[in-house]
Amino acid sequence: MGEPITKGIYIGGEWKEAVRGGTIDVFNPATLEKLATVPDAGDDEAAQAVDAASSALPAWREASAYERAALLMRWYEQIMLHQEEIARTMTMEQGKPLPEARTEVAYAASFIQWYAEEAKRVYGEIIPATTAGKRLFVIRQAVGVVGAITPWNFPAAMITRKAGPALAAGCTIVVKPAEQTPLTALLLAEMAEKAGIPAGVLNVITGDAKTIAGRLMADGRVRKVTFTGSTEVGKEIMRGAADTMKKISLELGGHAPVIVFDDADLELAAEQTAISKFRNAGQTCVCANRIYVHESVHDAFERRLADKIAGLRVGYGLDEGVAIGPLIDESGLDKVKRQVEEAVARGAKAVVGGRTAEPEGSRRGFFYEPTLLTGVTPDMQIMREETFGPVAPLIPFRTDEEAVRMANDSVYGLAAYLFTTNVNRAVRAAEGLEYGIVGVNDGAPSTAQAPFGGFKESGLGREGGRQGIEEYLETKYISLGLG
Ligand code: NAP
Repeated sequence: MGEPITKGIYIGGEWKEAVRGGTIDVFNPATLEKLATVPDAGDDEAAQAVDAASSALPAWREASAYERAALLMRWYEQIMLHQEEIARTMTMEQGKPLPEARTEVAYAASFIQWYAEEAKRVYGEIIPATTAGKRLFVIRQAVGVVGAITPWNFPAAMITRKAGPALAAGCTIVVKPAEQTPLTALLLAEMAEKAGIPAGVLNVITGDAKTIAGRLMADGRVRKVTFTGSTEVGKEIMRGAADTMKKISLELGGHAPVIVFDDADLELAAEQTAISKFRNAGQTCVCANRIYVHESVHDAFERRLADKIAGLRVGYGLDEGVAIGPLIDESGLDKVKRQVEEAVARGAKAVVGGRTAEPEGSRRGFFYEPTLLTGVTPDMQIMREETFGPVAPLIPFRTDEEAVRMANDSVYGLAAYLFTTNVNRAVRAAEGLEYGIVGVNDGAPSTAQAPFGGFKESGLGREGGRQGIEEYLETKYISLGLG
């Protein structure tokens, strides 16, 4: 990208500026160059978007599931047709390496495809009545207008995981993407427009989070708010939903444990742990954040993981061969530095990395070396707070019970991983972990057809799978008395 571009927001099928003309700058976290300006929308634009979504609702809800499915398939096709353009934009605004960005675009599109198919399977029920003169029906109906607030770490997938099932169910939606990554979101809206998704069914507004969220929460026409982001903001959303009794889905933070048992295939465990830990420079909610290794295999596992890390090149995501891009911003980088410094000051050792990185090509962004820490103890910050960076802390354990107990010792409950070749141990440990997702010998379990979501302070509700569309449906019972 050369000169910064200017984008509009998408409301009611039209591309618009902010009412008061304000803009937000979008930067490349690898080069710190300004990429674009987008509208700084607020209360007025949020109200317009809810108006548009409300006006579009009756026709969209009443269209047949087959009609909605056909349009969603066209949206899926447009996204895949423009996969490269969307991926390059994502790498420039978010930082992830281009191959990862391509994978995310395909993953994001797969939610639209899956829910296009799932739209046709929103079944009701007929219940046997107590008397011969009655018939009892249960039907499922769209919740209504949905407000969606999404984070920067998966700028495409966190939107389609919500918009796919919402639109399939017959809801209309207003999306507020993260301030750092609006360009991918606006490209998804362009693809929806190209696909012929009717005006007002999908609206995307960029701007001040608190003001936009405040309008979405206050407006009684918005019947559901779906949020992915930090647990702290998720709690605010939950409180805010009470006044108009909205349905909510919350996909929040995580602090994923990995357990490597003594009978694990250590090469597989190291490879899959590295995938889980270092994807997106460690900025995923399901990233390995605490790695418990049986004491008898600790050193062997450490060596294998260190070898994997040594092969990871840090740099600008558009450069060939880069595996670790920059962190999203200065505060993200500061958090990683603080956690590593605190751990090292208290006795941990950075076996690999442990510093900010300065990749070739005079990139000025927020780079941190992929890092392996040993000698970590449970009371260190890194073992309790989400890291959101490329740091892998190892901690030894002795018994299975101890490993599962330490893994469960967290306010979070999103994803956990375990490595073993013993099926009994795998089942017992998987069942004992208080987590919504468990990867057994698998560091990348997320997929469109499976339910994704957390226990405890990691959130409420599920995205993906047949469960994902339930979040956008009401249940109506109809009792019919026969004459
Ligand atoms: P965040 O600060 O909570 O922001 C997420 C979204 O909420 C952004 O669109 C943000 O807008 C908006 N927001 C910020 N303050 C708000 C407020 N007071 N009211 C309403 N909306 C508000 O989280 P983040 O740093 O972008 O994302 C990282 C977090 O997301 C991590 O905790 C990660 O674990 C979590 N995450 C969870 C999942 C999951 O599925 N469980 C998936 C991905 C990420 P602005 O950008 O404009 O501030």
